[in-house]
Amino acid sequence: MNIRTGIATVATVLLLAGQAAAQPRTVAVTFDDLPYQASAAELCDADTLAALTDGFIAMLKPLDARATLFINRGKVCAAQADRMRGLLTGWLAGGFVLGNHTANHPNIHRMTVEAWLADVEAGDIGGPASAPKYFRHPYLFTGETPEKKAAMAAGLAERGYTVAPVTIDNNDWMFAAVYRKADLAGDGALKRRIGEAYVKHMADVLDHYEPYSAELTGGREPAQVLLLHANHLNRDWYPQIHALYLKRGYRFVSLEEALRDPVYALPETYVKANGVSWLHRWTVSAGRPIRWEPDPPDWIVKAYEAK
Ligand SMILES: [Zn+2]
Repeated sequence: MNIRTGIATVATVLLLAGQAAAQPRTVAVTFDDLPYQASAAELCDADTLAALTDGFIAMLKPLDARATLFINRGKVCAAQADRMRGLLTGWLAGGFVLGNHTANHPNIHRMTVEAWLADVEAGDIGGPASAPKYFRHPYLFTGETPEKKAAMAAGLAERGYTVAPVTIDNNDWMFAAVYRKADLAGDGALKRRIGEAYVKHMADVLDHYEPYSAELTGGREPAQVLLLHANHLNRDWYPQIHALYLKRGYRFVSLEEALRDPVYALPETYVKANGVSWLHRWTVSAGRPIRWEPDPPDWIVKAYEAK
């Protein structure tokens, strides 16, 4: 190789490396269990319901008004049904996309598909006819037998739903349960420790999923769908999760845009009594072994199990 060709080759390699580094990461953020992860009594009290939801939306809206909110409308008592309708209208007007997460968050492993689909219908949140109707499975359970899985999928399709898969699954709910206990105990120092451990865990989870997801798409990281929940933990700490994603080069996109990534058309034949990331489902469906994401730290798991 002469010097001129050598310089040209080095320049080409640098250019390609630059393009690889600039490859934009994208993520659609989804929050489940709206209006809020709280007790039935709290959600039935008009002032508490308003305070919980207003606080959460006030945190989220300046950061990511493209987030999709998955609602369990049956969690709000009949006395607050009008207020619930008002909340849904307000969130839609604020630009959020709303999805159905069933009315009452039932566990399909303990019921028939017919009863489960009745709860899906009771959870319908309406919305503009032109917009996609998104559905998120409670616990990410999609059916523990091939027959149930097929009947659930057919029932959702018949009702016009687009399933919203999750790629970045992360156990935020476990941190949230421990955080809730610390909150009730008035232990601010413990809340901070839990919040900091949560942000660290979410970085560890990305360290795992980013290269793992790229194995499905020829080395390119696909558009991710992040699953989080509406609760005190994320009200207080989501801004730091958002900052973590920005620091890693993510652009925040709508669920509709994320689902256009070809990864979401991969075959998905996972059948098990377990709610897992679609990255695992596609990996198994491609005949490869799952590599699980990191668990929360032991002290969080122990504190959760001690409840
Ligand atoms: Zn849920």
